[in-house]
Amino acid sequence: MSKIAMANPIVEMDGDEMTRVLWQIIKDELIEPFVDLKTEYYDLGLESRNASDDQITKDAAEATKKHHVAVKCATITPNAARMTEYDLKEMWKSPNGTIRAILDGTVFRTPIIVKGIEPCVRNWENPITIARHAYGDVYKNTEMKIPAPGKVELVYTAKDGTETRELVHKFEGPGVAQGMHNLCGSIESFARSCFAYALDQKKDIWFSTKDTISKKYDHTFKDIFEEIFKNEYEEAFKKAGITYFYTLIDDAVARVMKSKGGFIWACKNYDGDVMSDMISSAFGSLAMMTSVLVSPDGNFEYEAAHGTVQRHYYKHLKGEETSTNSVATIFAWSGAFRKRAELDSLPELSAYADALEAATLETIESGKMTKDLALITTMEDPEVLNSRDFIKAVAENLKNRL
Ligand code: NAP
Ligand code: MG
Repeated sequence: MSKIAMANPIVEMDGDEMTRVLWQIIKDELIEPFVDLKTEYYDLGLESRNASDDQITKDAAEATKKHHVAVKCATITPNAARMTEYDLKEMWKSPNGTIRAILDGTVFRTPIIVKGIEPCVRNWENPITIARHAYGDVYKNTEMKIPAPGKVELVYTAKDGTETRELVHKFEGPGVAQGMHNLCGSIESFARSCFAYALDQKKDIWFSTKDTISKKYDHTFKDIFEEIFKNEYEEAFKKAGITYFYTLIDDAVARVMKSKGGFIWACKNYDGDVMSDMISSAFGSLAMMTSVLVSPDGNFEYEAAHGTVQRHYYKHLKGEETSTNSVATIFAWSGAFRKRAELDSLPELSAYADALEAATLETIESGKMTKDLALITTMEDPEVLNSRDFIKAVAENLKNRL
């Protein structure tokens, strides 16, 4: 069998720990035997980031701007413990944060649906994608403990020195206060990424805030979305047969629960943080959640939503058997191949991406799965495979399909 050709490279960002182990097995068993793989490789493993003073992360993000499609393995975000473990020069920033800042993108998280892993919400038939605005609000706040009576004000000082003040609260006793902000430019990028991704996926998009209570802050989000939609996307949405729908966050939560799924739900930073954990656990497992970073000018970076699965890696290092779920990482690759195929008009590569996903789901539906899924499946007597054997079982099904 001749291998499937690629025209342009995918930016490949390697990572850390157990997911780095899975990454290599996926390439060996599921990709290289079938595809004449063209990637521009960046090693974002923590050692390599440390050796390059994190320049490699910035280079990988710049490469994504050039080639428009990237696939990323999970990476360690250093903390104090990692400083010692890896003898780091600095506590390097989260690679995802660095890449997101350079690409100015929005992260879309979608659960992978498979028979035998049923969502807790019975009526959810199709995946719900969460789009989380990744700038500002409570994540860039300034906080104060108020020890005793006094007043707290917000003060805006313009360049010419004029001050505008708003009273936050006149404290009669101790309390707490917080100031937060957002930027119109960032909200605009978020809106454009959301509308562009809805068109890409041909799915309806919902957006929710608390604009009835937050009449200036949240209302600005609502207004910006509406204006960009009307001016730039309304026609294209009509043609694609999809809709944009704004509603209050409380109403959205109630509707989501009663829906059949199958849409994108755009959320402010905090709402997206919380709701994505709710959606992923209600659909089954963090290990079954894909993630794609979409920039407003059309660059796509695919990854799994979970981390490096550190506990499993330490078992692996001790020579113990692991049963780590590789599904979201496999889907990161298939997502990148499908996008590459679309941009380069390569139907064979697109069919390969479909076959890779179908073979993965078929493996699980035949009862072969990793331990995390075996614990939650509705299937009787699932066969628990180790990390490598699961990928090999997918490879068998893939061979039959190609
Ligand atoms: P994690 O790697 O997602 O793992 C948390 C736990 O969830 C695991 O211990 C495991 O539970 C379960 N799990 C997650 N993915 C799984 C999979 N594919 N298969 C089976 N079980 C899975 O999160 P973490 O332990 O909080 O973080 C570990 C490292 O990942 C940290 O250094 C963090 O900085 C990094 N991280 C990176 C990204 C990213 O690059 N996008 C995202 C999040 C975290 P059991 O141990 O109970 O089996
Ligand atoms: Mg969270």
